[in-house]
Amino acid sequence: MDTILVVNAGSSSVKFQVFAVEGEGRLRRQLKGQMDGIGSRPRLRASGSSGEPAADRAYPIETVADVPAAMSVAGAWLRDELNIKPVAVGHRVVHGGPDHARPVLIDPAVVTRLERYAPLAPLHQPHNLAPIKSLLTNFPGLPQVACFDTAFHRDHHPLADHYAVPHALYDEGIRRYGFHGLSYEYVSKRLPQVAPEIAGGRIIVAHLGSGASMCAIKAGKSVESTMGFTALDGLAMGTRPGQIDPGVVLYMIALKGMSVSQVQDFLYRDCGLKGLSGVSNDMRELEASADPRAAFAIDYFVYRIGLNVGMLAAAMEGLDGFVFTAGIGENSASIRGRVAERLAWLGAALDPVENAKHATRISRSGSRIPVYVVPTDEELMIAQHTLTLLMNQQSPNPNRERVS
Ligand code: AMP
Repeated sequence: MDTILVVNAGSSSVKFQVFAVEGEGRLRRQLKGQMDGIGSRPRLRASGSSGEPAADRAYPIETVADVPAAMSVAGAWLRDELNIKPVAVGHRVVHGGPDHARPVLIDPAVVTRLERYAPLAPLHQPHNLAPIKSLLTNFPGLPQVACFDTAFHRDHHPLADHYAVPHALYDEGIRRYGFHGLSYEYVSKRLPQVAPEIAGGRIIVAHLGSGASMCAIKAGKSVESTMGFTALDGLAMGTRPGQIDPGVVLYMIALKGMSVSQVQDFLYRDCGLKGLSGVSNDMRELEASADPRAAFAIDYFVYRIGLNVGMLAAAMEGLDGFVFTAGIGENSASIRGRVAERLAWLGAALDPVENAKHATRISRSGSRIPVYVVPTDEELMIAQHTLTLLMNQQSPNPNRERVS
């Protein structure tokens, strides 16, 4: 059976999933795995479609010193031990720059273009591209597809895409890109099936995970996002502050003498729920903690969601529905309840029983704003995009989507 491999590579881990291609372009998840501790304590862990363990093995550091090595060890395991030989590989790539509004079939020219966006996402883009480059070298005939976190937001109105800086900087790439686009695209494609009453309307999707953002979606298209130039902006997150006055950054540099990399580390690793609570970046631990700073961090998280809902609703001139997704959004009935209280002025009212059950529709029948929980699946979105591009590539249709 044909399979598609989905790869999400970070600085110290490579996550992967294998999907079997069934009839009529349907996909079935077969395997999930990851290589962690790259360059420190490499470990390959994987599980099958029902969660049954498929691998748990450690490697010497010299064998898995970097991301390409991790890709080749995991690839050899899939090929040689499981006999999985994917027909294509779909990659999560954080930045598609200003021009990529959809996934793209990769060739060396595309890689060169995507490398130009590395300064826009220095912590992610080089790691996302590393396995792409090593597969291009080692398996030049294997189709690879790049799927971007930014692509779903590329139709934003110029007003939503700009900062109030000189246009020359906009032309250079200083724009409000928005992120978590694969998650929003997946959720928005699910809505007609699970929430037809709101699918065509003005909705806010709250992707609340260790990274958190919200997206205003009007008739299935992203019109505004809480994230901007980088994934630092907007809501408070596990370790990132969300919206912060740039003057704070100037203060850190000028008065505290911090270097650029110290400020970068601070903003990406030490702020958000972790910084505010001093307890943890993990919402489960904060909810379980008796420390008043943990309670304050949760209050702040919820408060900022409420503020940003106002902003996104204003962008759409109204609100017809609200959707929770990602780790916190899908699993924490208490955070959902707290957020819904902040939306009461808009007419949202939760059904506590449905909310506690993590039902799909968690608002009361009379709620003016229907509220839903829709689990996200970015990997399936990537696999679907990859399959679509692969089929277009094989199709004789001269009007097929351009792929480079
Ligand atoms: P994600 O990045 O989407 O995997 O989400 C990770 C976040 O979801 C972490 O902050 C977790 O603490 C949070 N999370 C996962 N399960 C729960 C739960 N049952 N209750 C509260 N938070 C949860």
